[in-house]
Amino acid sequence: MTLESNETVDAVPEQYGFKLICSSKANNLIPVHKYKSVNSGITVVLGEVEGPVVNGYFALATEAHDDDGLPHTLEHLIFLGSEDYPYKGVLDLLANRCMASGTNAWTDTDHTCYTMTTAGSEGFLSLMPIYLDHILYPLLTDAGFTTEVHHITSEGKDGGVVYCEMQGRENTGESRVNLELQRDMYPGLCGYKSETGGIMGNLRDSTTNEKIRAYHKTYYRPENLCLIITGQVGAEEVFKTLKPFEEKIMSKGGRDEFVRPWQSPVPSLTSSVDKEVPYSCDEEDNGMVYIGWRGPSAVTELYKLTACAVLLKYLTDTPVSPLPKEFVDIPDPYCSQVRGILRAPKIPRYDGPTRPKNYTVNFLTVLNMPTKLHQNRTRRSRVRAVKQTIDI
Ligand SMILES: [Zn+2]
Repeated sequence: MTLESNETVDAVPEQYGFKLICSSKANNLIPVHKYKSVNSGITVVLGEVEGPVVNGYFALATEAHDDDGLPHTLEHLIFLGSEDYPYKGVLDLLANRCMASGTNAWTDTDHTCYTMTTAGSEGFLSLMPIYLDHILYPLLTDAGFTTEVHHITSEGKDGGVVYCEMQGRENTGESRVNLELQRDMYPGLCGYKSETGGIMGNLRDSTTNEKIRAYHKTYYRPENLCLIITGQVGAEEVFKTLKPFEEKIMSKGGRDEFVRPWQSPVPSLTSSVDKEVPYSCDEEDNGMVYIGWRGPSAVTELYKLTACAVLLKYLTDTPVSPLPKEFVDIPDPYCSQVRGILRAPKIPRYDGPTRPKNYTVNFLTVLNMPTKLHQNRTRRSRVRAVKQTIDI
């Protein structure tokens, strides 16, 4: 989808304080309009998708330079009540009454996104301001932190919803190998190497409610909030609904200067790394191999990016692709699966002449490879051959 500013659209509802930034058609079919509030700085993107379902994606660019899991812990705490609706669970209770299939959210490395889906626009417009009040004005109480993030139980054990969630995944082989790969692919100071979900050690000893409050203050602000709405809901209705919320934002007075996240260039990858990562498992016969390499920029080199995606698909996607054929579909298989993954960090750098260098990372995952083979020179030379094949 591209957004261009030269297409004509309906009259912009400027009386609501919004300015049309650009319009285009997604897939040459669906009209998409992007607006920005001149008062608060909130961005609104409307996609006129046919059908009765209305989707809302409320996204904020979030960056972390440690493993305290501030983006993830904050995401959880958002649902525990807000200034105008100070009750846990009230959001989902109201969502049910608005014909919504609940509310949800995810934390990615470079953004956090809150979602809602309703049948029809009426329920959507009723729920949206309540949801936004939770996002920009959450309670973030110490009690909420204790129950939701981390605490010690009466039996002396670690507890907390976020803590237990991370406990369930931190020490899996996939997680450990993936994190090590991330660390090595992005040396130096770089947000892409952080575990934004939170490492258990950090959640126990380092993450605090004060840090979460400060994190919220830095990133959860109208200039950094983008509301993406798809479905049959008119622009004017959306702006009319947002008006009281915007007035609330303005009534809070001035804010500190906004420093846009993801502005520092990604440090170069200067040398290759070959590392063994131990992890707990039932048996020691098999392991997994992750091979990663820097790809083109996801912002400025879209053709090369597409070429990489096609190449990875060609190399791994079907049983007759070269890598499964070479590694899996042989009498004495080297592994059970070869997968290709392309990660594309997409937050662009707007200001100044320097173009972004947020390179994609391509990687291959090889599952259930016998560990004996891992030490075997033949295998090493084979992997080297694969690296050379894909090193374009
Ligand atoms: Zn979670």
